[in-house]
Amino acid sequence: MKVIFEYSREGKKGFHIEEEKGRDLLPEDLIRDEVEVLPEVSEREVVSHYLRLSVLNYSVDWGFYPLGSCTMKYNPKVNELVASLFTEAHPLLPEEMVQGYLRIFKDLEEALKEITGLHTFTLAPAAGAHGEFTGIITVKNYLEARGERREVVLIPDSAHGTNPATATLSGFRAVEIPSDEKGMIDLEKFKAALNDKVAALMLTNPNTLGIFEENIKEISRLLHGVGAFLYMDGANMNALLGQVKVADLGVDVIHLNLHKTFSTPHGGGGPGSGPVGVVEKLAPYLPGPRLVEKEGKLRWTGGLGRIRSFYGNFLVMVKALAYIKELGGKGLEEVSRIAVLNSRYLRKKLEGKFKVSYPTETLHEFVLSDETFRDKITTLDLAKRLLDYGFHPPTIYFPLIVHGALMIEPTETESRETLDAFAGAMEKILEEAEREPEVVKTAPHKTPVGRLDEVGAARRPILTWMQYLQEQDQS
Ligand SMILES: *Cc1c(COP(=O)(O)O)cnc(C)c1O
Repeated sequence: MKVIFEYSREGKKGFHIEEEKGRDLLPEDLIRDEVEVLPEVSEREVVSHYLRLSVLNYSVDWGFYPLGSCTMKYNPKVNELVASLFTEAHPLLPEEMVQGYLRIFKDLEEALKEITGLHTFTLAPAAGAHGEFTGIITVKNYLEARGERREVVLIPDSAHGTNPATATLSGFRAVEIPSDEKGMIDLEKFKAALNDKVAALMLTNPNTLGIFEENIKEISRLLHGVGAFLYMDGANMNALLGQVKVADLGVDVIHLNLHKTFSTPHGGGGPGSGPVGVVEKLAPYLPGPRLVEKEGKLRWTGGLGRIRSFYGNFLVMVKALAYIKELGGKGLEEVSRIAVLNSRYLRKKLEGKFKVSYPTETLHEFVLSDETFRDKITTLDLAKRLLDYGFHPPTIYFPLIVHGALMIEPTETESRETLDAFAGAMEKILEEAEREPEVVKTAPHKTPVGRLDEVGAARRPILTWMQYLQEQDQS
């Protein structure tokens, strides 16, 4: 079905609908051939309509959003304001005309080098997963240039799914390393898996349990001993900002998620940014183009191939740089300190009624198991019921090594009152599970749509193109 709009000299508008045979999925009686004028509504009605729609959607601005590992913190509006001062310059403009823009890339690269202690950064990758791919490909470029054949990338069992996906996509074999009873990488099993076929270990630190990998320096030393690299998944950088330079921990490659740690609202699938930093010896093997400065002028040059069109998501970088400059070193240190404090506070509040997955102290997030409620309700039930109390649920059923996991990351932007209210809602739901489990099992009750059949939606999706094919078959 096609809608054809018509404009006359007098500005009179109309439209008609052209049907393409067989493609039309609208019922006959709803189809109009001609409409004289477009229906009109007043500005007042339009504003009301969209305002109401906008608050149906839960967001970081709306309320508490403890989606573990995603760092859904409140992003100060001043950074949006700064970004709005820029228009996206055409990427093919001559470099002389966009020196100011290039200076922003350069300043951000320098700031990220300072924060991590690493030698060189590329800002090109569009998100964390893309950064992982870029970082591991850089290691591969290095190894290939030296004629080394290494086929294995080691990955702890607590890792985000993008890590094994990255290793596989980059042409390596992902080998899983189990965690020990403290929730850290099992050092003995790691040693047993380490040999000269290993290209890298991909380590998230703090890991997805919120636990700092305390053997990281030893792990790095062992990797370097066999000529392998330590890749750090930096998605949890909100726990370490300003506390430690990852280069001092022996990290060779890292990706950062600007949309998590550095002030870009995310979750709706908008643009992200996953800059990659490397140690000096890997720098020549980063994808291009690289930004170089000569006699005060910046220009793009060199690098090995490209991993995306042009130079990255510029406005995300503007926001990140604004955020870093506003806060400064002390401010960034405070971000991680309060993020950790908030998480530990909430953990302590919940520990009595819920089971924390591992006894080890945690940093910016922690993971509960379903041990104290699994005989009455499921983790999914609890998550859905939280919506009725006005909270976005935590990440659930991840990491995979925790039964019925609830992964909670409160972030630094929440007040004590909010944390108390959330803990209160969690406890209330436990009581409900005891007294009236049906209420929890059929939640949510106060949202615009109720419980969806998620398994059905995944296993038996109703897709319009399928419907179309079925109709074709029948006719
Ligand atoms: C979010 C996340 C990723 C992937 O980052 P994207 O920006 O979503 O592609 C990788 N690892 C961890 C631990 C993460 O939390």
